[in-house]
Amino acid sequence: MKALVFAEHKDGQLRKIAFENVSLVKQLGLDFECVVIGGDVNAAELGKYGAAKVSHYNKAGNYSPDGYATILADAVNSSGADVLVMGATSMGKDLAPRVGAKLNAAVASDCTQVEVDGGNLKIVRPMYAGKVQATIKLTSAKKVITVRPNVYGATENAVTANIESKSSDVDFKTVVKEIISGAGAKLDVTEADIVVSGGRGLKGPENWHLIEDLATALGAAQGASRAAVDAGWRPHDEQVGQTGKTVAPSLYIAIGISGAIQHLAGMSSSKYIVAINKDPEAPIFKIADYGIVADLFDVVPRMIEELKK
Ligand SMILES: Cc1cc2nc3c(=O)[nH]c(=O)nc-3n(C[C@H](O)[C@H](O)[C@H](O)COP(=O)(O)OP(=O)(O)OC[C@H]3O[C@@H](n4cnc5c(N)ncnc54)[C@H](O)[C@@H]3O)c2cc1C
Repeated sequence: MKALVFAEHKDGQLRKIAFENVSLVKQLGLDFECVVIGGDVNAAELGKYGAAKVSHYNKAGNYSPDGYATILADAVNSSGADVLVMGATSMGKDLAPRVGAKLNAAVASDCTQVEVDGGNLKIVRPMYAGKVQATIKLTSAKKVITVRPNVYGATENAVTANIESKSSDVDFKTVVKEIISGAGAKLDVTEADIVVSGGRGLKGPENWHLIEDLATALGAAQGASRAAVDAGWRPHDEQVGQTGKTVAPSLYIAIGISGAIQHLAGMSSSKYIVAINKDPEAPIFKIADYGIVADLFDVVPRMIEELKK
């Protein structure tokens, strides 16, 4: 079985999920190549994780869903790959069904476990907002999968990457006219190793400095419950949960968050979960590895103070 790894980039840097997916296919023992589209990025960096062959399509212009999907479908066919591997990122989620339709391929999104089993892939992916962990096999000839960021780490396995520059006459229709880079400057909640999230228990945006200061002290990204986002305290790109982002950091700290099922859907696969809540019956404690039953306004400043020391 041969894989093609789509290496996504942002702000001139390859994304961590690209390295994770290269490490994954390498670990599975698959023959593989990588593909990068556009961007002034150092595609050779993929070699650090074991990618020996990278096709870099030198396309100018912003992200174009149709344009990218056409190039990826062509790249799958020309490389002879059986499976296209992408990140379960916003771009991966947008592209996977489009490429799947072009290739008549089955698509498995947000995979949390991928194994090779009898010449096929055996995949575990959450369904029904994480209530079910389904084990599936894709029976189509071509397959497309998106893998959840942070589930598989990036393992260094250096080889020299052979970069082949390619051109494509695919027309990038202007779909994204301008990329507003404001949100891109901060650590992305889906890629961070530590996430500090706050909820309605913070009482208002004027208290959010507690989340911000704790996150800074830990080098973490900030997340939020939907209640905090709906109230306008935080931007939607920080929302964790069923209708927000799915995260799987090493450490997730939930502060003043009750642990509604829709929130858990986005963070329950975190490796360690710490909950701070004054209600001992809060559902978040059912999945927390460590729980602090206390007033957050008392505990969080003390945590920040200790960490700063
Ligand atoms: C279709 C659908 C999709 C949804 N998608 C999402 C989603 O993606 N993400 C999401 O988060 N939610 C989502 N929700 C909403 C979800 O059901 C909850 O309403 C929401 O998660 C609650 O947010 P919260 O925990 O911040 O607020 P609350 O449920 O109000 O909890 C606040 C918590 O703070 C605690 N608290 C209060 N004061 C303090 C204090 N001083 N010290 C310590 N603890 C304190 C309270 O004990 C309470 O447990 C969705 C709902 C629906 C119907």
